[in-house]
Amino acid sequence: MRGLEEVEKQIVAACERAGRPRESVRLVAVSKGQPIEKIQQAYRAGQRVFGESRAQELSVKYGAVGPDVEWHFIGPLQRNKIRQVRPAVAMLHSLDRIELAAAWMKGPGQAPPALLQVKLGGEVTKHGFEIEAVRGAVEACEELGLPLVGLMTIPPPSSDLNEARSWFEQLRDVRDSLNHKAVKELSMGMSQDFEVAIEAGATIIRVGSAIFGDRTS
Ligand SMILES: *Cc1c(COP(=O)(O)O)cnc(C)c1O
Repeated sequence: MRGLEEVEKQIVAACERAGRPRESVRLVAVSKGQPIEKIQQAYRAGQRVFGESRAQELSVKYGAVGPDVEWHFIGPLQRNKIRQVRPAVAMLHSLDRIELAAAWMKGPGQAPPALLQVKLGGEVTKHGFEIEAVRGAVEACEELGLPLVGLMTIPPPSSDLNEARSWFEQLRDVRDSLNHKAVKELSMGMSQDFEVAIEAGATIIRVGSAIFGDRTS
């Protein structure tokens, strides 16, 4: 575990290497499986964006920190959980099928912005759109009026950072080839590889265990 302060230093250094301003990367502190005390500790240290991947857990933790916190939903979402998740979150990272997009649009108020989850590396990762299906999915979201703001990926796990880098560059290329004025965010990079993700153009990184330590649940 590196802790929030050390992770922040590494983000700054990676931004410098990439010639990018620090503000061009948002850190989502992934608090799934972590006790509320650790979330509050990060909050006191200034962290304002947290990520959860289970609806039930989100509804327990939501409210444990100040109202100026943004919650991002990053895990597989079942349709029957949307009602619980939608009012609580500032962003959905895991829009992984069109039926979910239609369901996300239902309900009171504006639908929070979403990212399309893209499957890289074939069978290893289960969720998300194949690269070939991304353009069609973007168009389908447009027809629904869904505020789609970018792409997200969880590449196949690898200890080889150069391999991770090539997945991240692949997602960036998909985003660039869309050439879409609204679909700009790249949510990619976790504890093991967020620095290379930043170098490859990530605008949002999702970091859990490097900040909080091993998950307890
Ligand atoms: C758990 C999780 C993370 C954080 O993983 P760490 O390796 O703990 O940084 C990031 N993204 C998603 C989608 C996750 O489920």
